Amino acid sequence: MPSLTRVEATARGAAITVESYQVDLDLTGGTELFRSRVEIRFRATAGTATFAEVKPARLLGVRLNDRDLDPDLLIDNRLPLDDLVTDNTLVVEAEMAYSRTGEGMHRFVDPADGETYLYAVSFLDNVQRIFAAFDQPDLKAPFTLSVTAPSQWTVAGNAEVAATPTPGRWEFAPTAPLATYFFSLIAGPYHVRRAEHDGVPLGIYCRRSLAEHLDADAEEIFTVTRQCLDRFHQLFTERYPFGKYDQAFVPEFNAGAMENPGIVTFRDDYVFRSAVTDTEREQRATTIAHEMAHMWFGDLVTMRWWDDLWLNESFAEYLGTRVTAEATRFDQAWTTFAMRRKAWGYAADQRPSTHPVAPEEVADTDEGLLNFDGISYAKGASVLRQLVAWLGDEAFLAGLNAHFAAHRFGNATLDDLLTSLSAASGRDLSGWAELWLRRPQVNTLRAEVAVDADGRYAEVALVQTAPESHPVLRPHRIGVGRYSVDGTVQRDEVGVDPVADGGRTVLGELTGAPAARLLLPNDGDLTFAKVRLDPASADAVPLVLPGLTDPLTRAVLWSEALDAATDGERPVTGLVELMVAALPAETEVIIAEDVLTLSRSLIDRYLDPLARSAALARVAGACQRLLDGAPAGESLQLAAARGWIAATTDADLLVGWLAGRDVPTGLKVDEELRWAVLRRLVVLGVAGETEIAIEAAADNSSTGAERAARCRAALPDPAAKQAAWDIIVRDTELSSRPLEATAEGFWQPEQAELTAAYVDRYFADMPAAARRRTPWTADRVAALAFPRYAVAQPTREAAAALLGRDDLTPGLRRVVTDADDDLRRALVARTAVAAASA
Ligand SMILES: [Zn+2]
Repeated sequence: MPSLTRVEATARGAAITVESYQVDLDLTGGTELFRSRVEIRFRATAGTATFAEVKPARLLGVRLNDRDLDPDLLIDNRLPLDDLVTDNTLVVEAEMAYSRTGEGMHRFVDPADGETYLYAVSFLDNVQRIFAAFDQPDLKAPFTLSVTAPSQWTVAGNAEVAATPTPGRWEFAPTAPLATYFFSLIAGPYHVRRAEHDGVPLGIYCRRSLAEHLDADAEEIFTVTRQCLDRFHQLFTERYPFGKYDQAFVPEFNAGAMENPGIVTFRDDYVFRSAVTDTEREQRATTIAHEMAHMWFGDLVTMRWWDDLWLNESFAEYLGTRVTAEATRFDQAWTTFAMRRKAWGYAADQRPSTHPVAPEEVADTDEGLLNFDGISYAKGASVLRQLVAWLGDEAFLAGLNAHFAAHRFGNATLDDLLTSLSAASGRDLSGWAELWLRRPQVNTLRAEVAVDADGRYAEVALVQTAPESHPVLRPHRIGVGRYSVDGTVQRDEVGVDPVADGGRTVLGELTGAPAARLLLPNDGDLTFAKVRLDPASADAVPLVLPGLTDPLTRAVLWSEALDAATDGERPVTGLVELMVAALPAETEVIIAEDVLTLSRSLIDRYLDPLARSAALARVAGACQRLLDGAPAGESLQLAAARGWIAATTDADLLVGWLAGRDVPTGLKVDEELRWAVLRRLVVLGVAGETEIAIEAAADNSSTGAERAARCRAALPDPAAKQAAWDIIVRDTELSSRPLEATAEGFWQPEQAELTAAYVDRYFADMPAAARRRTPWTADRVAALAFPRYAVAQPTREAAAALLGRDDLTPGLRRVVTDADDDLRRALVARTAVAAASA
């Protein structure tokens, strides 16, 4: 199937204007197919030709103006339309296939109760799996939807229901002009709760088997929704522009959520069936705020083409984090951003596949999909935060409001935004945009400190460097914190200007000041740059960090330590010792969780088996101490327990927890924690298929099936590995979730010998496997199934051979390029650490 190119979209965008879509769907036709009819009214220059896109199971009829067109004219997904007149009507009727991959009309049967749920995902270029369309973001038009479905179902769409003329028939009001990728609906016996705020009707939906869990959190979800809505109404002059605001939690959703106007869809993992930490609640709140930000950035004003994807995602990420921190109880959202989201951004930006936040051109929709990454989200949002630090908040918001006013219900580009921001701030932003938005890769700011005999700073300098591949230095506005051992801080905001300083900025204001125990560049996390402490400050971290009261400062320090270990500048074993020193005193759950997760990836890939075992024992000990000190029943206790389960080798104690023995007071060993314990027991070789089957029988939910699939793939058994591999490379029947769970469980550092033969098989099997699946699923599986623990030169050689082929999907090429670069960095770090200790 050809992917729509930028050139084609530009030509079609200039040639036609779409006036309306009238969509009629019949969802009563069985388990495989549904009926779709669309009537599109559009204007064109008389005598010209264009095409519409549709991906039917069977095309039943096509009528353009007064002519029936032969359905056999459809080539791949394109329906040629010629001899256009000024005002055209296109009618396309088709049988369409339900999806199992979360693209198009997804169909899910709940194993818990046998009920069927549908939802529509049009994201990117998938509306054509539901009805024929001119599927590109700048051909916006109102949609009027009618649906026939079982009469006992709930059906909701982008707009309000206007009429239900007969049982089983829903007719919706026309929407505001929408891009095609925003069309959505949900249909099924959904459970719904309704509320209202400031004149906006609110609804939240989930499948029935999760109803009690949604009800338990309904007040929290509505409260966050109201708080965010109020905050956006304070920040923006344009009110929420799409009428009602429904939020549907739907099964097997691929992304976190999708910003369909009027009906946001979320993955229903956000309806918590087991105990979760406050980080997970915060993440749900941030996602609610992120999607709501899109109602203005993305939905009201839409990018013209996918090269301005960042206009959607960077702004939604920035505003989602900011509004969560400012308006909800999750006031540490910027700490989470510093710790988790920026790690994602830095990793993406240092890879060979890095790209500018705002690329000049994205060639086609397939390439557009590749850019939904840590750069378009986390780096872009960091860059905006830096822009706000530079312009001031008032000018920034004035620019945004002018942008919305100028392009409401239309499309806009980077240049349009810069025009609005420049006008509001009175500054020329072209130089800023060139350095921050058009050039990839990240700078490092390294502190150099000289102290005189009296214990005063003789000189404090920040040395800025850039990688050889992209030798660009940038201006940074940052905080510099000076910390004593008792946590006392003095903070300065300083400008780093490479043009004036030639890459070495002397902080003259600090000369002569008493030297602090620890000097922290980028304190407050205002810029996007790797930071390195001076050696004396680095040595002081284990001493100073546990006493710091500001979680954001601790997050910046932890990030520095993790990044230095990732680069091989400091050994992972040193990072582990820092964890032993500082983790038991940590009070911020997100920091504890992310230090454990991010360090684990290094422990598993950077250390040899002996050193790894020793490190995990140290980590398990630190978790045990954190667990001992954590308040009963609170997030930190759960985070510590999860960390301990993942690191311990004490199978007796783990088995005891499953049986309810020796469980810390306040800790609930519920479904999710039971699966975590079982997974660890499987890897330790203590539990097998029998225990997995018993657990799966006790948890008949779809999540239970995913957890069981992951455990089965992790079994240290040749037959289980073979079965899992067959699923990973061949299965096309399973929905994406159990498939991904299988890929996720397959590789275990403990099983290097057992899985050695599969390293080569990955490179042999994956090209065909990727072609068998839709890009989203194929890319996810390829990434999860990559032999990431086979950190050795032969793995890199196999990757190089694969990348030398010319028949790879763009997604597989990106996945292998990036994963190979992770191997490269791990090998470099191992060599550097070995050399330093030799
Ligand atoms: Zn988004």
